[in-house]
Amino acid sequence: MMTFSAPSPSFSTSQVLYDRARRVIPGGVNSPVRAFRGVGGTPLFIERGAGPYIWDADGHQYIDYVLSWGPLILGHAHPEVVDAVKRAAEQGTSFGAPTRLEIELAEMVIEMVPSVEMVRFVNSGTEATMSALRLARAVTGRPKIIKFEGCYHGHADALLVRAGSGVATLGLPDSPGVTHGTTQDTLVARYNDLDSVKALFDRYPDEIAGIIVEPVGGNMGVVPPVPGFLEGLRALCDRYGALLIFDEVMTGFRVHLGGAQALYHVQPDITTLGKVIGGGLPVGAYAGPRQIMEHVAPVGAMYQAGTLSGNPLAMSAGLATLRILREPGVWDTLVAQAERLTQGIGQAAQDAGVPVVQTRVGTMFSLFFMDGDAPTSWDDVKRAHTEKYARWFWGMIEQGVYFAPSQFEAGFISLAHDDDVIDRTIAAAQKVFRILRDA
Ligand SMILES: *Cc1c(COP(=O)(O)O)cnc(C)c1O
Repeated sequence: MMTFSAPSPSFSTSQVLYDRARRVIPGGVNSPVRAFRGVGGTPLFIERGAGPYIWDADGHQYIDYVLSWGPLILGHAHPEVVDAVKRAAEQGTSFGAPTRLEIELAEMVIEMVPSVEMVRFVNSGTEATMSALRLARAVTGRPKIIKFEGCYHGHADALLVRAGSGVATLGLPDSPGVTHGTTQDTLVARYNDLDSVKALFDRYPDEIAGIIVEPVGGNMGVVPPVPGFLEGLRALCDRYGALLIFDEVMTGFRVHLGGAQALYHVQPDITTLGKVIGGGLPVGAYAGPRQIMEHVAPVGAMYQAGTLSGNPLAMSAGLATLRILREPGVWDTLVAQAERLTQGIGQAAQDAGVPVVQTRVGTMFSLFFMDGDAPTSWDDVKRAHTEKYARWFWGMIEQGVYFAPSQFEAGFISLAHDDDVIDRTIAAAQKVFRILRDA
């Protein structure tokens, strides 16, 4: 782990909580990236959030660009989302029986996401991708799946191979406990490299059930698809009778109201959703054309179930979020704010002479501490200076701005990040880049 001079704000309450948490929860956290291994130091324990802000246990306020890793596209505790959840809770929190809210959210998703005619709700992105693989295998009767280096699709065994996100930060090659048996049908290709995919189809022409891809890489930092990449995947799937799975758990409602498939005009066979679709509550979904989705039980034979799936609180939060997101002008405002932020940060870096590379698609963005061209693959991303990123991270924390505690995670903006919030972020960045230059 890296070492740093202690930042000036006091994190003594977070430290006490962290020590206590580590006694009862592995590493003190319920998801590894929260432990700050990517930047060193003590993870901040968060007490509350409102709009663009969060407050830690020591009372510091931060402008938040993590936003629960993407879901909170309206900001923290949006009044309409909170109201919707309260109203739902008062009617009973779970029934294990169908409700009206599930239909409403499914209809909304179908209206918004081009390739989708039917939706099955689950409780997390992991569950969504795991089920999507099962579905692709059930539909095609084939065993193998292609995934890309640096793409993260949740922690299901078959997908925990050369994944990004926390796995990247921790530098785990794979994970112990994942057997050869469960990953032997997982093939790994290079992101943005169609030849590496073709080579796999050449080798296993009749065995590949599908390709799963983040249509915009988000879990190695933001790595957009190069022109022709997604189209090329579509063509290869068509040629070999495999299904194309867009894992839009992060990109759904983040790069375009209709997801990456609407932005790049490429239709996948199966779409996975999560994060924004739950408005800050635990929701995932897998979705697609009727003909594919009717393989799912009880219509079809592919089994998949969930005690809390389609939970009324979660459906309400998702519905309230998507309703606001679709109001006229909202999306354009979000994208304009993301543009203002990334331009301002880029200019600040340039003014200070600190080499950085920026990427942004819609409302997700990255700041890579590296020279040269924007990264297009995991190999490129690995060149980033993680220690510089860590210094930037702690510098921004001192200025009251919370970015992801890892170089290999995306940043997110919300509707609550107005001009004033963004301009204060840029002013903070100017200071921190100057410190980095003089270090
Ligand atoms: C976050 C994420 C997942 C996993 O979702 P969880 O809700 O954390 O299980 C899967 N795929 C992508 C692309 C993600 O960004």
